[in-house]
Amino acid sequence: MTQLYIKEPYPYLGCEACNQQGCTDCYRLTKVELLGVGEFADRCDPVLKKSTIYVYKSNGRLPEPDLMVNNNNTALWLGSTVDRWNEER
Ligand SMILES: [Zn+2]
Repeated sequence: MTQLYIKEPYPYLGCEACNQQGCTDCYRLTKVELLGVGEFADRCDPVLKKSTIYVYKSNGRLPEPDLMVNNNNTALWLGSTVDRWNEER
């Protein structure tokens, strides 16, 4: 599991940080968890084999990764991306 923080704007009218209406200046840090291929496979229902995920990956059947790391060699997905793909496939 890879965790990172993303800057997320306050989408609501009253900013929680500065109390300004319609503030677009403040951000909060939200922790997101990203899944590698093995975790992608485990999250699917029914659970897929990691090797199946690699086949899908080479066939272009996987969703666009949410983040590429390791010099663009490692694809990571948000759990929500995996869930959506899993429901639609
Ligand atoms: Zn603010």
